[in-house]
Amino acid sequence: MKFLRHGAPGAEKPGLLANDGTIRDLSGHVADLAGAALDPQTLARLGAIDPSTLPVIDAGTRLGAPVSGTGKFICIGLNFSDHAAESGMAVPPEPVIFMKATSAICGPNDPVLIPRGSEKTDWEVELGVVIGKTAKYVSEAEALDYVAGYVVSHDVSERAFQTERSGQWTKGKSCDTFGPIGPWLVTKDEVPDPQNLNMWLKVNGETMQNGSSKTMVYGVAFLVSYLSQFMSLHPGDVISTGTPPGVGLGMKPPRYLKAGDVVELGIDKLGTQKQTFVQD
Ligand code: ZN
Repeated sequence: MKFLRHGAPGAEKPGLLANDGTIRDLSGHVADLAGAALDPQTLARLGAIDPSTLPVIDAGTRLGAPVSGTGKFICIGLNFSDHAAESGMAVPPEPVIFMKATSAICGPNDPVLIPRGSEKTDWEVELGVVIGKTAKYVSEAEALDYVAGYVVSHDVSERAFQTERSGQWTKGKSCDTFGPIGPWLVTKDEVPDPQNLNMWLKVNGETMQNGSSKTMVYGVAFLVSYLSQFMSLHPGDVISTGTPPGVGLGMKPPRYLKAGDVVELGIDKLGTQKQTFVQD
């Protein structure tokens, strides 16, 4: 099942994508796709509703991030060995994690703001994992039981803010609109193997990233288990699992985004995003 949130920023309502391609409103059945509604059993119950009984939403309606109430937006750094190489960094002995401010979250096709003073705004297509129920000290074998589903996540990054302005990476990852998520929250039954998904990204129609979750160093189940050893993961938390090679930083010479650039990205089974970059 593909769940979504439709409507104006801050006023999104829950919905789903029916098999006939129509967007259907779920607000008569659930208040929002947040908290307890993300429990895999609740999602299964919502997914069992006959879509023909649900109101049709206009196809041109804006989509927001497909989950709400995200308390933590956790990112995994250098999780593809070939991306680590292009970044001039070694694959770490344990996952590198960092936080992206949840205020960066936006819809999959919203304009992305290039922050003031930015000269190195860059792209990163990533597989996003949405937590469905609280996970603490879970094993790798049971980790996926705590996952609601998967999303396309664009880990937009400002490289100078990230690595040239002192401290950790948070500054370069948290700017407003640096976290497009969606278009859909795709439930686990539609993604039986999260470690076999093609992922791609284009800038102005030119392919920049063309990878697969096959080459992730640390897979989804490992990461959920690993993170849960350090902090409780709550429903609505998002884990962005790292990017394959082909980012602007790794090009010779490096190439960064400017106002007017259009970025399109997608992952097998999870849909696509399209953003126009604009100066903030
Ligand atoms: Zn990333």
